Amino acid sequence: MSLLLNGIGISRGVAIGRVHRYDYTAPDIRRHTLAVEAIEPEIKRFCAALETAAAELRALKTRIPEDSSSEVGAFIDTHLLMLEDHLLSRVPVEHIRAQHCNAEWALKLQHDELIATFDAMADPYLRTRRDDVSHVVDRILRLLQHDAERPPAAPPRTSIVVAEDLSPSDVVALQHARIGGLVTEYGGPLSHTAILARSLGIPAVMGTHAAGRLLHDTERVIIDGEAGLVLADADEALTRRFRQKLRAQRARNERLRSMRTLPTVTADGADVTLQANIELDTDLNAVRQAGEIGVGLYRTEFLFIGRRDPPDEEEQYKIYRRAVRGLKGQVLTIRTLDLGGDKLSDAVDIGEQTPNPAMGLRAIRLSLREPALFVPQLRAILRASSHGPVRLMLPMLTDLSELHRALELIAEQREALSSEGRHYDPSMPIGAMIEVPAAALIAEDFARRLDFLSIGTNDLIQYTLAIDRTDDAVNDLYDPLHPAVLKLVRLTLDGADKAGIPVAMCGEMAGDPAYTRLLLGLGLREFSVPPNRHAEIKYVITRSDVRIISARAAQLCTLPNRQERLQALAELNRGLDELLL
Ligand code: PEP
Ligand code: MG
Repeated sequence: MSLLLNGIGISRGVAIGRVHRYDYTAPDIRRHTLAVEAIEPEIKRFCAALETAAAELRALKTRIPEDSSSEVGAFIDTHLLMLEDHLLSRVPVEHIRAQHCNAEWALKLQHDELIATFDAMADPYLRTRRDDVSHVVDRILRLLQHDAERPPAAPPRTSIVVAEDLSPSDVVALQHARIGGLVTEYGGPLSHTAILARSLGIPAVMGTHAAGRLLHDTERVIIDGEAGLVLADADEALTRRFRQKLRAQRARNERLRSMRTLPTVTADGADVTLQANIELDTDLNAVRQAGEIGVGLYRTEFLFIGRRDPPDEEEQYKIYRRAVRGLKGQVLTIRTLDLGGDKLSDAVDIGEQTPNPAMGLRAIRLSLREPALFVPQLRAILRASSHGPVRLMLPMLTDLSELHRALELIAEQREALSSEGRHYDPSMPIGAMIEVPAAALIAEDFARRLDFLSIGTNDLIQYTLAIDRTDDAVNDLYDPLHPAVLKLVRLTLDGADKAGIPVAMCGEMAGDPAYTRLLLGLGLREFSVPPNRHAEIKYVITRSDVRIISARAAQLCTLPNRQERLQALAELNRGLDELLL
């Protein structure tokens, strides 16, 4: 009889392998009272553990695969920052001194206090930070308890790692060991560990609460990271079925890899531009792996996040220049700062207690309000444009007056740079994101004053359907196929067409192969997507005939019922089943 465990499908893919139970011994923490002369040595022991933890994390960072997204390194940086924070580095020392207790106990006291504070917070983003605190504390505890001398055995290649919970840095280490898949008892789809498993392409199932009790070391299991299934003791027929799925998955990956050097042209010969979205200039490695492509969205706010002072003009200029040079003649579209909403930085004060951050002082609104922040960025981008093709893109425009003001500031900085004898490309294209319904409704007016547009569907859907993109409770209502969303996408495409300028899409919708044919059918010819989605999107493009899909795509937009639209989408995607498994 086979055993079936249900969990949450976190990261697509089937894996078959032997169970490797990972780190199942939770540290047993007891209080010891120390003699006065033992206090200073105890503090030294604690500080040494902190240092080793930081050294381990830094070493781990060097083992991140080149083509991983910048998120991977960012998680490790977050943990490094936490290790340095006085709440974890100083407060336990104060506890050791005041309470004459051992370091483990002092750390546990502080951990419990921090967790209670996080638990009292409603914000889902901050709650994910709570897990980060626990992961960092676990790392220090392991070191304090001498596990450094007996680190958990590295799992064998292709094994299925079963753990109670894993930290993002555990995932990096496990990927290095080339495991086959992951099963955890806790964790959800939005946790950093989950995001990381997806970005590293490790099949994963989370939230299988009984896994630790029911799965034994070295027994053979099958996991399906899409359906959220873990199967033990599967019979012959079932195993054969999953082996087949695994073979299809390998063939699919192979086919996708071979797409890298092919041109991006539809089956009936229409040229399509495929570009990449990046968050940090280190993502350029992944862009280069995807082929010779440009960048359609560089989210520069990540340069400001995780630091206490904003980067000045010179620092930004050097970063942008490095990125332009790294692209070797391919275009770099630099989006000006989009801070605010769910992206906050200690370096920029947006004001305490914004009642509704997504609708508050965000993106271009903040930049226009704070010229001291905006002007250095404009100057840095202009200067970088003298080193290769650069486009400047403004986020979240709503009203033409915002565009006029931004264009004025850009013109002023051009003049200032000229009078200082600095170089820039005088014809650097300037474009804007269409991500607010108001902007989509008057897209043609924006288009007549700009060189290009790019549709940001993440926000366009959020603002059109009044669904907070960070709120799990309304996630299921987030519908890219909503007729109102599709109408706004079409209006933007029409507006750009009438003004004779190109229009791209850089929101998540552009990177989901399920929507590629629909978007091609509606007339989109430029897609900007995360580098690891390139092959899939290109695959669909090369297998689409625009002459056939245009009428069907237009028809889909008129269907009032969601079920009917999904059905029409499935019909539009017929023949792609092996890709959209
Ligand atoms: C968007 O809104 O679709 C977009 C690409 O911008 P961001 O996700 O950075 O808000
Ligand atoms: Mg946006």
